[in-house]
Amino acid sequence: MSVRQEATRLISREMVQISETASDRMDRYFHGVFHRVRSYTNFDLIRSAVSTDPQKLRPSFDRLNASFADFTWLAFVNTEGVVVVASDGLRENEIVLEQGWFLKGLQGPAIEDAPDLEAIEQAVTSGKDVALSFVKFAFPVYNNRDELAGVLVAAIHWREIEEIRKTMERTGDRIVVVTRGGEIMLGSKDLRTRYRSAQVAALRKAKHDVFIDGSGPTEVLSGYAAMDGHRDFPGMGWGIVARRNTEVAFAATRQMFWSIVGIGTGIAILGILLAGVIAKRVSGPIHELTKAADRIGRDNGITSLPRLRGSAEVIHLSTSLRSLLLRIGFVERLTLEAEEKAAEDARKFANDIASLRKLAETDPLTNLMNRRAFMNAAADAMRYYQRYNRAIATLVVDIDHFKRVNDEHGHAAGDGVIRRVSELIAQTLRETDKVARFGGEEFVVLLREVSEPEAQELAERIRLVIANSQIPFDGKELSVTVSIGCAATTAQDRDVEELIERADRALYAAKAAGRNCVRLAPAPASNKVRAA
Ligand code: GH3
Ligand code: MG
Ligand code: MG
Repeated sequence: MSVRQEATRLISREMVQISETASDRMDRYFHGVFHRVRSYTNFDLIRSAVSTDPQKLRPSFDRLNASFADFTWLAFVNTEGVVVVASDGLRENEIVLEQGWFLKGLQGPAIEDAPDLEAIEQAVTSGKDVALSFVKFAFPVYNNRDELAGVLVAAIHWREIEEIRKTMERTGDRIVVVTRGGEIMLGSKDLRTRYRSAQVAALRKAKHDVFIDGSGPTEVLSGYAAMDGHRDFPGMGWGIVARRNTEVAFAATRQMFWSIVGIGTGIAILGILLAGVIAKRVSGPIHELTKAADRIGRDNGITSLPRLRGSAEVIHLSTSLRSLLLRIGFVERLTLEAEEKAAEDARKFANDIASLRKLAETDPLTNLMNRRAFMNAAADAMRYYQRYNRAIATLVVDIDHFKRVNDEHGHAAGDGVIRRVSELIAQTLRETDKVARFGGEEFVVLLREVSEPEAQELAERIRLVIANSQIPFDGKELSVTVSIGCAATTAQDRDVEELIERADRALYAAKAAGRNCVRLAPAPASNKVRAA
């Protein structure tokens, strides 16, 4: 159902309701009047009116007439149709034999609406309280012997009906009272047209209905309700039409439509603005936070996040990230400290290892290499020689009659001599050469890249240096000599031990030759012989 259809339905119902209410109120009013007039016919005064002097009756009629504001005329008509007595003496003695209300009134309750439409219109327009023929209620009157005595008639003012009509009429609406024949009786003014009697008949049959009156310049939505009485009052047979211009009727709908559109648009704009504000309050700070977080570790010195303002969630996020960063920083510091400690430990450890190795490879008395260290170095040199044919040589140096030094000057003096001799040997050697104490007062020297004569020459120099040295000890000058065995590598030497062994043999030869001299090792025997 379209909006217009729905609006039409609602407005139609409203129009019918208005007309029904107006009709009901008018019916109730007429019922009250009808009832009042009928009750008068039971008054003794009225029942005996026929046999009473009219002059005496008139004041009572005047009082009764005045007792109800809307009575305009109260009269008693005898069965011959002569107005016997009337309020204010109006129309007394007039013969109303041919009036409808009289003829019907003789037989039973009669209602007559013979409105003088023109007069009513004039009265309404002028605003004057003109009493004119509008509605008459007529009832038969019976005397005390229950014989028909005449008719009591009351004419009713149009004022009350017009008031009901007007109070029911709201701005923009028009309520009209329509007679049985379709004439517009009240609320007309600009409505000179009358409804077609066939249409009115159909409406009366339906009791209440709605229709569109297209007879005027604009369409009029009209609700109809028949005035079909109240309780024992049978009704006037009139109808009430409540009219509303369709333009006016739908103006409200249009206004409501645009109001709804307006409110909707307003809410939408408000929603967009609100979303924008929320987004700014939430995404703005988060964007800032993201940028700040991105700078951490890139830009120097930036290690923390800014304290943010915004919604509670944003503040919470910012605080959490800040404390997370602090914790990361703390852990990082701990890690760094642990790493530094580990590096320090490793350095110490390496130093310890180095000094242990040095200790393990050093002769404690002379600080020279010991036998083990020397053998490693010599083996390296030997491999080097074998690969590149670089000549090497060894010297075995032994102090002559050392026993005597110990014996004559004591063990400490012997130690001093060993130390001094080691120094003298080391001083005489080149940097690439190596010297070790092999035990007791015996030293072994490794010479690199030397021929046999060069080795022999170096050995001689060592011997001379020592022989010419005075070794001070305990205020005395000691002097010792050494014997030296010299051996240079040959193709037959398979390892360094063999080389040392040959030098050692040369040393014995030197000792045997009287000491304080250098002897060359003889060329080695062939492999075959040696193996044997
Ligand atoms: P030769 O000329 O035949 O070599 O005679 P020598 O007395 O040197 O011979 P030997 O090798 O028999 O004597 C070495 C002595 O050196 C024996 C030992 O008491 C002494 N000696 C060994 N080691 C040390 C040491 O470290 N300090 C001291 N003061 N004496 C030592
Ligand atoms: Mg010795
Ligand atoms: Mg010796």
